[in-house]
Amino acid sequence: MDKLLYTGKAKKMYQTDDPQVLKVVYTNQATALNGKKHDQIKDKGELNNEISTLIFQYLMKKGIPTHFIKKLNDTEELVKKCDMFPLEVVTRNVCAGHFASRYGLKEGAPIAQPVEEMFYKSDELGDPMINTSDILALSIASQDEIDKIWDLTRKVNELLKPLFADAGMRLVDFKLEFGKLADGSIVLADEFSPDNCRLWDIKTNAHMDKDVYRRGLGSLTDTYEKVLARVKEALAEED
Ligand code: ADP
Ligand code: UDP
Repeated sequence: MDKLLYTGKAKKMYQTDDPQVLKVVYTNQATALNGKKHDQIKDKGELNNEISTLIFQYLMKKGIPTHFIKKLNDTEELVKKCDMFPLEVVTRNVCAGHFASRYGLKEGAPIAQPVEEMFYKSDELGDPMINTSDILALSIASQDEIDKIWDLTRKVNELLKPLFADAGMRLVDFKLEFGKLADGSIVLADEFSPDNCRLWDIKTNAHMDKDVYRRGLGSLTDTYEKVLARVKEALAEED
């Protein structure tokens, strides 16, 4: 029997018989406001598992190292167990969310270049922003590791912006997590789904991500189903 290691806000992580392999179970739980708002959303686990699988497979095909091994069924996948950096690595292509509120800007305001931010992953502390000097002082990662993380993150942005554009969506911003394998190599871990990024319809700017839930704008299930269908179509055109 797989042993439950961790229950997160959206996924459960299980140890498998292989010490280097974890089973991830995507749940239907949605949270906002650092967990203060939470609800069960029909099919969210399945949809995120499928979307994240497609994105990770695409990134791997393009040379990005990731933790992904395989999708097991509707809600489960196998991944390589990582020693995770407690960092949320955020890239912003368009002004939105906390970036807009922090600087008193309207969402959608143009920015001269992509914004790169890191946050220290801690629910208790509310994920405070963290800079390179803090990361080095706290021995969270070395300069080489930080450079590698940003190098991979920039490549992911350059790969996913056009993919989502082909799918009729602007990749406004997104959050990545990275971990280290037993051999010390750094891989993209966690997930890539509309729970962790902002997607705006290219024509209407309609929200097609978790903001639909955060802001009470409609059905999250319907929204994620649309994202999945569009990503599948864009990937089919790629092949
Ligand atoms: P949270 O911890 O933010 O509530 P989740 O519910 O998504 O998030 O839980 C998944 C947890 O598993 C996260 O803490 C994430 O950092 C961690 N994780 C993701 N991929 C791996 C991996 N390959 N190895 C070990 N831990 C991972
Ligand atoms: N994000 C995330 N997990 C977090 C915080 C942010 O996945 O704990 C994602 C979020 O979905 C968005 C991006 O990171 O795509 C930037 O989020 P922002 O800092 O604007 O905060 P938010 O307004 O989403 O709380």
